[in-house]
Amino acid sequence: MPILNENYLNLKESYLFSEIAHRVNNYIVHNPDKKVIRLGIGDVTLPIGPTVIAKLHEGVEELGSADTFKGYGPEQGYEFLRSAIVDYYSQNKISIVSDEVFVSDGAKSDTGNITDLFDKDNVILIPDPVYPVYVDTNIMNGRKITYLDANETNQFLPMPDPKTHADIIYICSPNNPTGATYNKEQLKEWVDYALENDAIILFDAAYECFITDAALPRSIYAIEGARKCAIEFCSLSKTAGFTGTRCGYTIVPKDLKFTTSTGIEISLNAMWNRRQTTKFNGVSYIVQKGAAAVFSAEGMAQCRENIKYYQENARIIAAGLSQKGIRCFGGVNSPYIWFKCPNDMDSWDFFDELLTKAQVVGTPGAGFGKNGQKFFRLTSFGNRENTIEAMARIDKLL
Ligand SMILES: *Cc1c(COP(=O)(O)O)cnc(C)c1O
Repeated sequence: MPILNENYLNLKESYLFSEIAHRVNNYIVHNPDKKVIRLGIGDVTLPIGPTVIAKLHEGVEELGSADTFKGYGPEQGYEFLRSAIVDYYSQNKISIVSDEVFVSDGAKSDTGNITDLFDKDNVILIPDPVYPVYVDTNIMNGRKITYLDANETNQFLPMPDPKTHADIIYICSPNNPTGATYNKEQLKEWVDYALENDAIILFDAAYECFITDAALPRSIYAIEGARKCAIEFCSLSKTAGFTGTRCGYTIVPKDLKFTTSTGIEISLNAMWNRRQTTKFNGVSYIVQKGAAAVFSAEGMAQCRENIKYYQENARIIAAGLSQKGIRCFGGVNSPYIWFKCPNDMDSWDFFDELLTKAQVVGTPGAGFGKNGQKFFRLTSFGNRENTIEAMARIDKLL
């Protein structure tokens, strides 16, 4: 009999979105005549722009001809895409080289898979509330987690405590679910803390494209010293509507070196390369072809159009809630609006109330950690009409 990885038993019963789907489906079965509006799951809805679509088609055609056919590609991604990403960073005056870029099927896989590089015994800091993947993947590996409280007191932007040591620090900025975004000074404190502690920052920048305030950093590498202490995860999911197409990339700087227990210096870039070449065979050529077009001037302009549309939805949601005297977080540099449930309600209770009385689906804050217990997340990824209608229903309900 195989001995199982019983760490799985320590995971919370169900993944947040499965529980939401379960409750929504149950409601729909019993109320087939009601129109349910979903402002819950963080999935985009607008179609991919024509420039990227044209390149995806081109990729398909190339596979149908012997002289342009592609088999296995480089596990780390095609050079044409890696260098497009390098150029994208250089537009923000950040200098990376193409073999620091690892193309993947998305940031969820990479933020989970990165745990392969670290021993079980590490002090791991994870903000609470946060994207559940960081927590669950560490629990699967039997690691202990120290939670960093993010709450109204610190504006959902927890800062390092110089008196306590950590080895691995997860940061998601702009944050999912709170929308809170660190400024340069705050991120500098985290980088300094990481350097001081010989720690590593795992920086999730999946929402960098939603940053409107030009003073806010869109990459951890905008901070001096970060190349020595941070890995950055990015995704085309929210940037370019690739949630179903699947493509992301992870930056592992070559300056990132740590010493083993026997005193040997190891490059994390080399380790990640070894990990990926062993366990991953790369993203499909077609998708990479489309992904490279995202970074063209035309492709990016089309992505920006979509992002603007979502940002207007976010503004509508935040304005509607504010009108009810509800204080909102996020929504400006992020597609997410985060707020305290009215009347001191518990977030799952508020979820049920919103679903059954207004037929609006949101995401209970409790699904993101204990500090989310009384909070709620709405997303701007719906269509305009539905967003307006949802807010009208919420206006009537509250
Ligand atoms: C959506 C999201 C991602 C992107 O995941 P993909 O696997 O690239 O679709 C990564 N991190 C966070 C926090 C997210 O919300």
